[in-house]
Amino acid sequence: MKLVATTLLLAALSFAADRKVVITFDDLPRGGDGGSRTPEALRQMNKKLVQPFASAKLPFAGFVNEGHATGIGREGLREILNVWLDAGATLGNHTYSHPDINNTSLADYTADVVKGEALLREVLAARRQQLKYFRHPFLHTGATPGTKLGLADFLREHKYTEAPVTFDDADYLFANAYTKPKFRERVRREYVPYLESIVSFFEQRSVEVFGREIPQILLLHANQLNADLMPELLAMFRARGYTFVSLEEALKDAAYGAPENYVSTKGVSWLHRWAQAKGLPEKNEPDPPD
Ligand SMILES: [Zn+2]
Repeated sequence: MKLVATTLLLAALSFAADRKVVITFDDLPRGGDGGSRTPEALRQMNKKLVQPFASAKLPFAGFVNEGHATGIGREGLREILNVWLDAGATLGNHTYSHPDINNTSLADYTADVVKGEALLREVLAARRQQLKYFRHPFLHTGATPGTKLGLADFLREHKYTEAPVTFDDADYLFANAYTKPKFRERVRREYVPYLESIVSFFEQRSVEVFGREIPQILLLHANQLNADLMPELLAMFRARGYTFVSLEEALKDAAYGAPENYVSTKGVSWLHRWAQAKGLPEKNEPDPPD
């Protein structure tokens, strides 16, 4: 009996130890919290955000909106992107101005994608890297089959790999409340437990959809809340048996080649998209607290 219990425990531990996650941040140089956009504030926030990854040599990724750097100019943004690259980040395109494909023509949207490449290609080329990844604003991928196909074709022709999200959450709501003094302490208490509830939900969803836990991809935003609480967030993942992997490694998993035909105005986790393609009943992740 004791042997059985030990064997089960070891099996559970080895299962947990296999967990993999990619940490990704959208809306560089700052998004989702309405905080200060002065050059110094942006520099400090971004440096603090990448520090835990740089010091532990962890892979991570950032998606850039070049058009959201008006306060710091092109050279200011170049400096911040180099802070991320120095820390070991993979950088991808998140469009120039964060348009919504639901209310933008495909022609205007794709022009915005191209406009959002200019500085990125330069800073990457200086390190002999190529621009590879694209993340859809709002995770919106097209509300009609024609738009979805047209956008996917455009991205393929421009040699982009789409960067899906599986751990989808509402960090931006917490980040926004965090900049208001009366909510600050409550957000500090409730943010990591909320994210853990999301992680737990999608671990189970992955097992329902694929029969196993796939390498997951977490969506966060570049903001002060994540800069301040990243060490606690990484500790939460470690305690659940996660190692941190790159987008490139995670996307090698066969799950990311699974078909999905999600056509909607909504932007949801790819686990929901694959669940729908497999005819599984709909299920929603936990809501953030009021
Ligand atoms: Zn975004």
